[in-house]
Amino acid sequence: MTGGWAAKELTELGLRTLVLEAGRPIVPEQDYVEHKAPWEMPFRGLGDRRAIAARQPTQRNSVSFDELSHVFWTDDVDNPYSTPTDRPFHWFRARQVGGKSIIWSRQVYRWSDLDFEANLRDGIAVDWPIRYAEIARWYDHVERFIGVSGQAEGLAHLPDGPFLPPMDMNCVERHIRQRMQEHFGRERIMTIGRVANLTTQHNGRAPCHYCGPCQRGCITRSYFSSVNATLPAAHATGRLTLRPFSVVRGLLYDAGKNRITGVRIIDAQTKGEREYTAKIVFLCASALESARILLNSRVGNSSDQVGRNIMDHIKWGGGTGDFDGWSDRREIGERPNGIYVPRFRNVSSRHADFIRGYGFQGAAGRSGWGDALRSPGIGPAFKQRLSQLGPWSMSFWGFGEMLPRADNRATIHPTLVDRWGIPSLHIDCRWGENDLAIHRDMNVTAAELLEAAGATNIEHPNGPSTPGGTNHEMGTARMGRDPKTSVLNGWNQSWDVPNLFVTDGAAMTSSGCQNPSLTYMALTARACHHAVDLLKRHEL
Ligand SMILES: Cc1cc2nc3c(=O)[nH]c(=O)nc-3n(C[C@H](O)[C@H](O)[C@H](O)COP(=O)(O)OP(=O)(O)OC[C@H]3O[C@@H](n4cnc5c(N)ncnc54)[C@H](O)[C@@H]3O)c2cc1C
Ligand code: SF4
Repeated sequence: MTGGWAAKELTELGLRTLVLEAGRPIVPEQDYVEHKAPWEMPFRGLGDRRAIAARQPTQRNSVSFDELSHVFWTDDVDNPYSTPTDRPFHWFRARQVGGKSIIWSRQVYRWSDLDFEANLRDGIAVDWPIRYAEIARWYDHVERFIGVSGQAEGLAHLPDGPFLPPMDMNCVERHIRQRMQEHFGRERIMTIGRVANLTTQHNGRAPCHYCGPCQRGCITRSYFSSVNATLPAAHATGRLTLRPFSVVRGLLYDAGKNRITGVRIIDAQTKGEREYTAKIVFLCASALESARILLNSRVGNSSDQVGRNIMDHIKWGGGTGDFDGWSDRREIGERPNGIYVPRFRNVSSRHADFIRGYGFQGAAGRSGWGDALRSPGIGPAFKQRLSQLGPWSMSFWGFGEMLPRADNRATIHPTLVDRWGIPSLHIDCRWGENDLAIHRDMNVTAAELLEAAGATNIEHPNGPSTPGGTNHEMGTARMGRDPKTSVLNGWNQSWDVPNLFVTDGAAMTSSGCQNPSLTYMALTARACHHAVDLLKRHEL
């Protein structure tokens, strides 16, 4: 995702740009499969469980992983990593042109100074070197290009953007929004998700037609991905060279000049080695992969912070409840979006048990035939049951902020290597006390919201999630104000080697509780413009 943004900005700014991608190319007309029906799948959507257990035992844990989308996830055997036996970490990866932007859930939320000032205020880790005012116009820049549908709510801690028309809430969601307003006023609000799916024609891409399984691609380019939007824009400049099947082995470093002179790659198909030279290098391989490249290259780590401070968002707290009524109502189509309850803990008052907070995502819906996919049954009674819609229920799923801690760390494994002989990572990461206190509170407040709206049969998920399981890997080459305690300056530029930029989630100094990719994209665009300014001034 961030690599696509770097390609677009750098080429549009006039630079001849080479994108090196470890995985295969993606041709939408051949590779996107969102319109295949369950009866066209040999395993009816569940996938070949034996084959998947053998090749993708980690990736299959993602909720978006299915029989057709599994081809967009990494092969775990070719790409191994290790963890301590008692501390699993789910590292979800996507090795192809477009990376995880093909399979992501497209929820996009701005950060505010509640987030950028948080470390300084709480005396945690290091201070962010930027504030909202410095990134606001880059959020605008990114949102205008990708297209974000959403509802402006005027919240200082969840700033609005130039939204496309919002998607509709369904009848039960509207009821719950109303009840929340009556009970909690502006303290706890529910809005429709802010999502990078188009609700109108936008930049030559068609509006979404609500078919549902975006994780399998989108032939109408109605959601944002690198393949659907940034790479075509970069290609249109005539200055992009995209080289798939190019596994970056390491960075080439000239100690005399203190510059990165290029990269060494291994051709994924032939296993032959090759070197490319460049004036500037942007690392956009995703937080943990970028840390792996830096550690294997032995550059940029005078602070000893590369690989440390791994963050994810803590999940699987919240609640689900049933609602009587609306039995004559059903949803038409598959809205690829849910609702959002912005953070309300530690915003205007302090919670006694934890700092920071969480937001809820979720949706209301009716159970139906889809539930039968995993339930046993046969015969007329079973079929009859499946032809009826069940009651309405509403779920709130929390996404909680994780604090950065130096001992949550990825290091190079002494012996384990990937299929191309490149040393793999050993990832040691666990939730801290504050993270777990946040997780416990999600169940309490989800129950409050559901009860206020009149729900019955309230149940809670079996959390917390396994670290990594929320797909929001961050923090392994953090930005900061001091080269002794951070890897990057306020422009995502390596303190140690000035022509090296790292603009994926590795740069994050704290994790907020909002889905983070919008911030990565904004930081990438900002860093590209800064790098080109430096080049023009002959300062790189
Ligand atoms: C199921 C799922 C749902 C998600 N939903 C959301 C959401 O709703 N909102 C949100 O904000 N975020 C979401 N995310 C996270 C989001 O996808 C990531 O934050 C985002 O894609 C990160 O962008 P990136 O550029 O850092 O990495 P990626 O998109 O993973 O791209 C990295 C690229 O680098 C390539 N690469 C890696 N190593 C090498 C190497 N050595 N040599 C060459 N190339 C290499 C990879 O093949 C890949 O193409 C979700 C993720 C998943 C998996
Ligand atoms: S739901 Fe919309 S964005 Fe998703 S695949 Fe279908 S048309 Fe594309």
